[in-house]
Amino acid sequence: MSTIQAHTTQLPNHIGGQWRNSAATEFLKVVNPASNELLAEVPVSPGREVVDAIEAAAAAFPEWRRTPPEERIQYLFKLKQLLEEYLEELARLITLENGKTIGESRAEMRRAVESVEVACGITMLMQGHILEDVARGIDEMTIRQPLGVVAAITPFNFPVMVPFWFLPFAIACGNTFILKPSEKVPVSIRRAFEIIEQTGLPAGVVSLVNGTKAAVDTLLSHPKVRAISFVGSTPVAKYVYSTAAAHGKRVQAQGGAKNHVVVLPDADMAMTTQIVSDSAFGCAGQRCLAVSVAVTVGEAQRTFRDAITQTAGSLRVGFGLDDGVQMGPVITRESKARIEGLIAKGASEGAKVLLDGRNPRVPGHETGNFVRPTILDGVAPDRELSQTEIFGPVLSLVHADGVEQAIDILSRSSYGNAASIFTSSGGAARKFRYEAPAGNIGVNIGVAAPMAYFPFSGWKDSFLGVLHGQGRDAVEFYTDQKVVIERWPKEWSRKF
Ligand code: NAD
Repeated sequence: MSTIQAHTTQLPNHIGGQWRNSAATEFLKVVNPASNELLAEVPVSPGREVVDAIEAAAAAFPEWRRTPPEERIQYLFKLKQLLEEYLEELARLITLENGKTIGESRAEMRRAVESVEVACGITMLMQGHILEDVARGIDEMTIRQPLGVVAAITPFNFPVMVPFWFLPFAIACGNTFILKPSEKVPVSIRRAFEIIEQTGLPAGVVSLVNGTKAAVDTLLSHPKVRAISFVGSTPVAKYVYSTAAAHGKRVQAQGGAKNHVVVLPDADMAMTTQIVSDSAFGCAGQRCLAVSVAVTVGEAQRTFRDAITQTAGSLRVGFGLDDGVQMGPVITRESKARIEGLIAKGASEGAKVLLDGRNPRVPGHETGNFVRPTILDGVAPDRELSQTEIFGPVLSLVHADGVEQAIDILSRSSYGNAASIFTSSGGAARKFRYEAPAGNIGVNIGVAAPMAYFPFSGWKDSFLGVLHGQGRDAVEFYTDQKVVIERWPKEWSRKF
C-alpha cells in the first residue's frame, strides 16, 4: 500500500530518461471508481512538453537503432522478469484506478507480459529475405529498418496491457517510443515506467507524457513522429487516423465495438452461459471484446435467456480488491449516467428489461460508479441501442430464425471487432467463421482476444489502417522495408 500512498500526488512525465514535473496549468483528478476517492492528479501537459519528449526520443534514436537487436532484447528479458516480480503491485494499482477485479487485473498483466515475451523474438521476426541471381551476378534483398520516433495513445480500459501492445514491439524493432496514456488511469502505467527504468534502458528510448487533446495533437502533427498507434473510441480513432495521415504518418487506429455472439440450440448451454456471462459482464462490460448482443436461434431463445438471466443476477458486484467480488464499477459517474440512460432508451424502444442493474445499492460503496448486470430482451436490430456501443454491463438479446439471419444481424453493425458462435455443429461453425463480418472470431470462445503473436484484427469501424497491433503486423508496422539490388562484377574480385 505504500506505493499507493506515494502516488496520491501530481503525476510527473518521463522525458529523456528523467521524471519531470509538468508546468501544466490544468490538472485532472484520478479517482477510484469504486468510491470516487482521489488517487492522484494528472497534468494536462502543454504541447511544448510533448515536443521535449519528441526531441529526446529523436536524439536517442541513432544510437538505439545501431544497438544490435540481440542487445536490444536483453532489456526486454529484464523487463519480463521485473514485470513478473511486480505483477501483483501493478495489478492492485490497475484495480484501484480502473475498477476491474483483482483477478481481471492480474489477467491484464499476464497479457502485458506476453507482449514483452513475443517482442523478445525480434531477432527472428525482423529478418528480411534475399534471392541470389535475380539476373546473372545480381542479388536482391529486403531488409527491415526502424522508423524513428513512434507514439501510442491509449484508452482507460486496459491501463497497462494496451500500452504494452505497442511499447515492446516498437523498441525491439529499434524505434524510440512515446506513450500518451489515458488521463483516467495514469497511475499504474507511471509505476510500470518506473519498473522499465530499472532495466537500464538508455535515456529517451521510452517516454511518457500525460495529457489530453493538446498532447495528442502535438504527436499527430510533429514532423519527427513517424508513426501513431491509437486505441480508443471510434470518433477519436477517425480523428487520429485522418489527422496523422494528413501529416504523412503511418497510422493504426483501433476503435470501438459492438460484439455479437450467436447461440445455437445445440450449444453446451451451461458452458455457453458461463462464458457469455464473463464476456458480457467481466470488466463491467468495458472490454472492446465484450459481448454486447446475444443472438439466439431456435430453442436457445428460451434456454439461454433463462440461464444467462439467472447467472448474471447472481454475480457479486463490489470493490475489485474485496474477496469474492466478480464485477467492479464502471469508470466514471458520467459513464454510469450514460449507461443507465441507454438502458432507459432501450426500454422506451420496446425492449423488455429482464434484469435491471440501474442505481444499485452496493453496501459499503455507496459513492461508487456501480451498475449491476443488465439484460434487455427483444432489442430490435434497427433501433439505436443495437447500433450504439454501450461499454457497460448490459447484454441485449435478439432472436434469429437461423445462422443465416444471425449473420445478417451482425452485418448491420458498423463495427467489426469480434463475433463468436456457440454450437456443437462443425458446419454452422465453419459457415460463421467464413461469413461473419468481424476480424476476431470465436468458436465456443467468448472473448476472442488474439494472443500477442497474432494480430488484433478489428474490422470496419473498429479499425482504421492496414497493419494491426501485435504479431507480425506489429513488426511490419514499426519498420520500413528497404530493397537492395547488388552487383559485384567478377573482375573486381580477381584483384585479390
Ligand atoms: P477515448 O477515445 O475517449 O480516449 C482514448 C484516448 O484518446 C485517450 O488517451 C484520450 O486522452 C484521447 N482522446 C480523447 N478524446 C480526444 C480528442 N478529441 N482528441 C485527441 N485525443 C483524444 O476512449 P476511452 O473512453 O478511453 O476508451 C474506451 C473506448 O476504447 C471504447 O470505445 C472501446 O471500445 C475502445 N477500445 C478499443 C479497443 C480495440 O482494440 N479496438 C481496445 C480497448 C478499448
